[in-house]
Amino acid sequence: MRIQILGTAAAEGWPAVFCGCDTCVRARAAGGHNLRSRSSIQIDDIYKIDLPPDTFHHVLTYDINLSNLEHLFITHSHHDHFAVSELYYTRPPFAHNIRKPPIRIYGNETVADTVRTKVSEDSHPIEVVTLEAFVPVKANDLRFIPITAHHSPNEHCLNYVIESDSVRVLYASDTGEYEQPTLDFLAALDYDLLIIECTQGALPGPATSHMSFEAVLRLRDKIGPTTRTVITHFSHNMGLLHDEFEAIANPEGVEVAYDGIVLEC
Ligand SMILES: [Zn+2]
Ligand SMILES: [Zn+2]
Ligand SMILES: [Zn+2]
Repeated sequence: MRIQILGTAAAEGWPAVFCGCDTCVRARAAGGHNLRSRSSIQIDDIYKIDLPPDTFHHVLTYDINLSNLEHLFITHSHHDHFAVSELYYTRPPFAHNIRKPPIRIYGNETVADTVRTKVSEDSHPIEVVTLEAFVPVKANDLRFIPITAHHSPNEHCLNYVIESDSVRVLYASDTGEYEQPTLDFLAALDYDLLIIECTQGALPGPATSHMSFEAVLRLRDKIGPTTRTVITHFSHNMGLLHDEFEAIANPEGVEVAYDGIVLEC
């Protein structure tokens, strides 16, 4: 399985779109891994999780051909993960030669309703699939298990366990610390890779709707203490540039993702 993390920022990007805080000033000056776009991952050629407003930037920067996309899994309806208006451009005259229509778009009820309201399945080469938590979906060679995240009271936010015949990966974004049913489900499985959000960085405080570094370590130790662990979805408010966070995370065996990082497993 080839996974590319296309974006590693929280909702406002990094440097944040309209921000003049010290961290964003330092990030702009330092460049490189300190420039972070909104979160999404590409899996092989035909699978993608989330459709952030930076999708066009990802297509250009990482030479991605989304006419090959067959399965788009959405975690939740927040704009940084689901810029639904981009789906308008799946149909002619905006897009031609979609390789294998319809593109299946999977999500919770809020996401499914939003797609159906804003982008008609009749006039676009898309098909909406409403997911139920903990009920696996087969998508070509992979299996996606939507799990209940702990993120927003307004909708049933989902994270994903992604399985091939030989590999299992957790993509945990967006979420705070999981509640017991999700933890019990996750603890019963073995993983090759954990990708976990860490919006709060190393800041202390309860991880209610997003994760802190301490909460990431707690989760890793519960479900895969020796599993490769990569953190993503960072807020500029956590104050650490890439190298500064690596100095804290790497000694704990955790890798700090940057935009475009490729993970093979
Ligand atoms: Zn987010
Ligand atoms: Zn800022
Ligand atoms: Zn969110």
